[in-house]
Amino acid sequence: MTIPPPPHRCDIAIAGGGPVGLTLALALARRGHDVVVADAAPPPGGGAADARAWFIAYGCWRIFRALGLETEVLAGAEPVTQVEAEGRVGGISFIAEDSGEPVLGYMVEAGGLAAALHTAVAAEKRIMLLSRARIESVTFGDPRAVLKLADGEIHAPLVVGCDGARSIVRRQAELRFEGHDYDAAAVSTTVKLAKPHNGLARQVFLPNGPMAVLPLQGDRANLIWTEKAAVASALVDLDARGFERELAKRAGDFVPGATLDGPRVSFPIGLYIAERFEGPRVALAGDAAHIIHPLAGQGLNLGLKDVAALVDVISAAARAGLDIGAEGALAPYTRWRRGDVVATAAAMEGFARTFTSALPVRLAAGAAMALAGAIPPARKLFAREAGGDLGELPSLMQGASR
Ligand SMILES: Cc1cc2nc3c(=O)[nH]c(=O)nc-3n(C[C@H](O)[C@H](O)[C@H](O)COP(=O)(O)OP(=O)(O)OC[C@H]3O[C@@H](n4cnc5c(N)ncnc54)[C@H](O)[C@@H]3O)c2cc1C
Repeated sequence: MTIPPPPHRCDIAIAGGGPVGLTLALALARRGHDVVVADAAPPPGGGAADARAWFIAYGCWRIFRALGLETEVLAGAEPVTQVEAEGRVGGISFIAEDSGEPVLGYMVEAGGLAAALHTAVAAEKRIMLLSRARIESVTFGDPRAVLKLADGEIHAPLVVGCDGARSIVRRQAELRFEGHDYDAAAVSTTVKLAKPHNGLARQVFLPNGPMAVLPLQGDRANLIWTEKAAVASALVDLDARGFERELAKRAGDFVPGATLDGPRVSFPIGLYIAERFEGPRVALAGDAAHIIHPLAGQGLNLGLKDVAALVDVISAAARAGLDIGAEGALAPYTRWRRGDVVATAAAMEGFARTFTSALPVRLAAGAAMALAGAIPPARKLFAREAGGDLGELPSLMQGASR
C-alpha cells in the first residue's frame, strides 16, 4: 500500500500560475502570507510559446515596480508613448503627455513576463510553486478548502482562483459566470515592421472587427487581428506568405510591408463576468473572474488591479482579526472591483458592436471619437482611463511614477 504524501498547508492557496496568479503570490508573500501555487502548465520554456504580448498600463506597471520586478520586466519591454484609434471616419489619438506620465504603458511579451515572474517567485521563501500540477477538484469546507491534485492535496483557509477563463475553482464554488461569446476570434502574432513604430500603438476598426499593431522591441509589433471565427482559423492555417498577402490586401495601408516574425495563435473572444468575486473560502482574480474583448488591451490590466485590491482587502480582514476565508470577510473586494470590470467590459462591448455595425453607425461613432479627441480634457480622461489610473487605487498602485 502506498502512503499518500502529507498535504501542503498554507495561508492562501492559489489555483493557476499565469501572470495574475504569480503576481498575486508575490504580493501576498511580501505581506507575510505563506502561499502555495498549483499550475497545470510546465515552467517557462517547457511548453508551446504564447504568441501574445500585453499592453500594461502605467497605473498597473506600478504594481511590478512595488514588487521589485521592474528592472527584470523592463529588459524585454517596449514603452508605449502614443495611442491612435481610427474609425472609417475620424478617430482619437493621445500621447503620454495627456496622462501626465512619461509613458502610457509598456508592451511586454508573454514569455518575457512569465520568465521574470518565475525568477522572482523562485527567490521568495514564502511561495511554493507546483508546476505541471493540475487541480482536479476543490472542496470548500470549514475551516479550510482542499485542492486535490493528481498526487497530493493543498489545504488552506482561502483559495484564490487565478486559473483562467475555464476556472475549476469558480465552477466548484458555484459562482455564476454570465455573458456571451462573440462570433469572432483574435489572431495574435508578431510582425516585423517596414518602418520604425516610434512607440505608437495603433488600432483600426475594419468591417469585421478591430486590428491592433502594438510596438515591440526591435521595430517588431504584436498584431491582433479580430475576424469572424471561421476566417480567423483560416488565417492561422495559411502558410506565412499567404498570411502576409491577406494582411497586405486587408490592411496594407495600415501595416505597409509587414512580414511575419512569430507563430500565429487564434483566441476565441467573449464577455463574461462572475456574479461575485468572492465567497466562503474562495476569491477569484483575472480571467477566472472576467473575460472581455481584447480590444484596447485591458484584460490583464483588470486582473492586475484585482491583485492589488485583493491584497489590500485580505490585509484589512487579517488586521481586523477575521478568518480571511469566512463568508463575507472579503465582500469589500467584490464591491471594489466588480463595478470597474463591468464599466470596462461595457466600453469594450460598445466599441466592438459600434464599429462592426452598419456604415452610418460607424461613421457617426468615428465622428464622435474625433470630436472627443479634439477636446483636451476629454483626451486627458481617455489617456488616464487607458493608463488604469482612475478610481480608488489600491496601495500597490499608488506608488510614484518614474
Ligand atoms: C489576443 C489577446 C490579446 C490580449 N492583449 C492584452 C493586452 O494587451 N493587455 C491586457 O491587459 N490584456 C490582454 N489580453 C487579456 C490577457 O491575455 C488575459 O487577461 C490574461 O492572460 C489573464 O491572465 P490570468 O493569469 O488571469 O489567466 P491565464 O493567463 O489564462 O492563466 C491561467 C493559468 O491557470 C492555469 N490553470 C488553468 N486550469 C488549471 C487547473 N485546473 N489546475 C491548475 N492550473 C490551472 C493555467 O495553466 C494558466 O497558467 C489579451 C487577450 C487576448 C486573447
